[in-house]
Amino acid sequence: AKKQGNTISKGHKNYDLMLSLQLGIRYSVGKPASTQLRDLRPSDFDPREKFWTKFPSKGSKITPPHYSTEFKWKDYCPMVFRHLRKLFALDPADYMMAICGDDALRELSSPGKSGSVFYLTQDDRFMIKTVKKSELKVLIRMLSGYYHHVAKYENSLITKFYGMHSVKPSGGQKIRFIVMGNLLCSEYRIHQRFDLKGSSYGRTTDKAGEEIDETTTLKDLDLKQVFHLRSPWFKKLIWQIERDCEFLETEGIMDYSLLVGIHFRDNASSTNEGVFAASRNASCELEPLKGGGSLDEICSSESERCDDSRFINGRNLPIQLGANMQARAEPVSRNGEMYEVVLYLGIIDILQDYDICKKLEHAYKSLQADPTSISAVDPKLYSRRFRDFISRVFVEDD
Ligand code: ATP
Ligand code: CA
Ligand code: CA
Repeated sequence: AKKQGNTISKGHKNYDLMLSLQLGIRYSVGKPASTQLRDLRPSDFDPREKFWTKFPSKGSKITPPHYSTEFKWKDYCPMVFRHLRKLFALDPADYMMAICGDDALRELSSPGKSGSVFYLTQDDRFMIKTVKKSELKVLIRMLSGYYHHVAKYENSLITKFYGMHSVKPSGGQKIRFIVMGNLLCSEYRIHQRFDLKGSSYGRTTDKAGEEIDETTTLKDLDLKQVFHLRSPWFKKLIWQIERDCEFLETEGIMDYSLLVGIHFRDNASSTNEGVFAASRNASCELEPLKGGGSLDEICSSESERCDDSRFINGRNLPIQLGANMQARAEPVSRNGEMYEVVLYLGIIDILQDYDICKKLEHAYKSLQADPTSISAVDPKLYSRRFRDFISRVFVEDD
């Protein structure tokens, strides 16, 4: 399988940044005070909970000597993230080794439009994303809500955040970043990936004309298949997406996506090509932005009963919702044909609030397109449309 991104080796323009990042994380995770885990206090979530550490080249009492540029390192709400890592059952040594081990990180050629840079660990488990100051502020603002949400719903599909830091090389710009779980880290090869928002305006891959392969992120309008899930998993998925969207709506977040990774089970390559061809050429599309019954109606009767005991039935079912989900994909253009697939999914890019820029983007794009088809809409409408879309892409198998 093709590995994503380019390994950052000596001479790469971000080589120093990578070294600083690795030194910083090793320091944050490994420092002695980190070993005792006391209970969280409200003050741990305070935006002022941030700690500068200097990393002089020759080393200091608390930092090792190094060959990177001198830099300052900052940890944001470190106690909260330590608790989050524990909650996500991540062993500190494991975490440190994956990011700071001898293996270099890989840089992805900017998958998003926002200018963020992404790094992947060699084992594919962790993703590091550089973020804007405003995004960092959003995460700090919602950190308490986020913590309580993921603690309450172990099946939450929202991205797992493991840390938030910044690096300020001497004489350079401050770079802020978050460490998160790679949703598409799997034993199975991911043949297709979709970034779905539920909006239609401009939602095709930017790569039209260029070579599209399995590492290309496709978008809403490229999706020409429907996923059939077994009833308990379907219900559980829809229920969880409801809870997650409720949370994001409360926090005033919009512009997030459902990331879907697909592994075609049998006859992988030819099947893949089959569905792929269908997905590129088919004239019939999923109806954009119309219809879709209220999910409240569908799920309200089920929601109370969506506990684990009801769904884990001793067979080879996934423990974690959203990973390793068996399903069948049905190309829209070839009614009745079904492909056995394994799905990976989660909700990503949740650090955008409906700020003045997004309001302007909405106003501006409204002049060119149907206002309900643009991705920039207020959080309530965003969440409604997102869920409506999902309920058309995933269907319940009987
Ligand atoms: P924009 O704001 O323009 O959408 P962005 O720079 O904020 O872009 P994201 O939307 O967060 O970037 O991510 C871009 C792509 O990177 C996603 O479509 C997805 O393919 C991949 N990606 C992001 N986060 C994850 C994750 N946690 N796991 C796996 N893949 C991810
Ligand atoms: Ca995005
Ligand atoms: Ca974004």
